[in-house]
Amino acid sequence: MNKLSHINFSDLQTTDGQALKALMRVDFNVPLDEERNVTDDTRIKAALPSIQMLLDNGTALILMSHLGRPKGEANPKYSLKHVVGSLQELLPDVTIYFSENCIGEKTQQMAHQLKSGELLLLENTRFHKGEKAGDTDFAQALADLEAHIYVNDAFGTAHRAHASTYTVAQLFPESHRFIGLLMAKEIENADKVLNNAERPLTAILGGAKVSDKLLLIESLLDKVNNLLIGGGMAYTFFKASGGNIGNSLVEMEQLELAKRLIKTCEEKQVHLCLPVDSVIADRFDNEAERKTSPSGEIPDAWMGLDIGEQARKEFSDIIANSKTIFWNGPMGVFEFANFAEGTKTVAQAVAAATKEKGAFTLIGGGDSVAAINSLGLQNEVSYVSTGGGAMLKFMEGNSLPALKALV
Ligand code: AMP
Repeated sequence: MNKLSHINFSDLQTTDGQALKALMRVDFNVPLDEERNVTDDTRIKAALPSIQMLLDNGTALILMSHLGRPKGEANPKYSLKHVVGSLQELLPDVTIYFSENCIGEKTQQMAHQLKSGELLLLENTRFHKGEKAGDTDFAQALADLEAHIYVNDAFGTAHRAHASTYTVAQLFPESHRFIGLLMAKEIENADKVLNNAERPLTAILGGAKVSDKLLLIESLLDKVNNLLIGGGMAYTFFKASGGNIGNSLVEMEQLELAKRLIKTCEEKQVHLCLPVDSVIADRFDNEAERKTSPSGEIPDAWMGLDIGEQARKEFSDIIANSKTIFWNGPMGVFEFANFAEGTKTVAQAVAAATKEKGAFTLIGGGDSVAAINSLGLQNEVSYVSTGGGAMLKFMEGNSLPALKALV
C-alpha cells in the first residue's frame, strides 16, 4: 500500500505542465450547533497534516467528505459550506474555494482551474444516493474531476465501501492512490495493540450492550492478558453467573454467550475482571437515590449505573500494571454526573499509566473519547482514535474496505 508519507512528488510530475491535482477523501463530519457553527473541529484538525503536506508540495487539492445523514438528497442543514470558515481559520494563507455540488460540469470547471497550493472543498458526497451505494457512475463522476492522485485520509469512514472511500480509489492506478497520514497513524496505533503489544496487555470495555461488542471481545480474547468489563454490559455476565442484577441493563438472549465467554477466558488464561461492586440507583436519573452493592446482589427495583469503589480500585491497579492498554466504552452512565466516577477513575488511571509508567494507551470509540475529552485528558494518553466504528471494526480483525481499495 502506498503511504502519503513516502510519496515521491518528482515521480508524479504532470506532462502538461499543470499542477499535480489530488482528490482526497477526508472526514469533515463535524458536530454543528443550531446556527450551523462547528462546535468541535477535532476532525478537521486531524486532517491538517495531510492537507498541509500536499499543499506545501504544490498540489492543487480537491477535498471531499460527508457530513451527517442527508439520505441521498441535498439538504442545506448538512452542507459542507458550514465547514469552510473553520477550515479557513486553520489555513489562513490558503485560497479555499467551495463547490456547491461534488460532481458535474461546474465542479469540473472549478477543479480544472484550481492552481498549485489552492484548495477546493466539494459539497457533501452524501447528497447523492450513489455515495452510500458505492455506485460506479457516481465514482466515475468524481474521477471526472481529473485529479492525478487519490488519497484517503478519512479513517472515520474507512469501514464503509462507499463511492468516495472505495469505488473511486479503484479508478486510479495503484501507483497513484495513497493512504493519508491520519489513516496511516490510526492503523499503526491499532496495530501496536493487536500485533505488537508490550505486555501485560489490557483491554477495558464498557458501554451499554454486549451484543455490540461481541466480535470485539472474541477478537481480543486471543490477544489480551486482562479484560476489564464495566458499564451496562457487565450485568449480562453477572446474570449469566446466577447473580441478582435487579433492574440493571441485561440482554437475556446473550446469557449463553456470556457464559461461554467466561469459560473461554479461563481456557485462554485471560484475566476477566468484572466490577465486584456497583453504584446502584432506584431509577434511571441523575438525582436517583444511590448506594453501593455487590454487582451480583443488586436488590429488585434497583439498577447498576456505575462501577463501585472496590471495582474502581481493582481496575486502577490492573491498569497501573499494564504496558499496553486499549479502552472502549464508559464504565457507567457517565452522562449523569452522579454516575460518572467509574469512567473518570479509569480515564485518570489510563492517563497515569501513560505518564508514569510509559504504557502505550489507545482510546478507541465514541463515548470513551467523549469521556476523555470532557476530563481534558486527551493529551495525556498515547492516542485518541478519530474513528469509533472504524476502530472497532479494525480491532475486531476485519480488513477495512477503504484500505483494501488502496492496495
Ligand atoms: P456504547 O455506545 O455501547 O459504548 O454505550 C455507551 C452508553 O452506555 C452510554 O450512553 C452510557 O450511558 C451507557 N451505559 C453505560 N453503563 C450503563 C449502565 N450501567 N446502565 C445503562 N446504561 C449504561
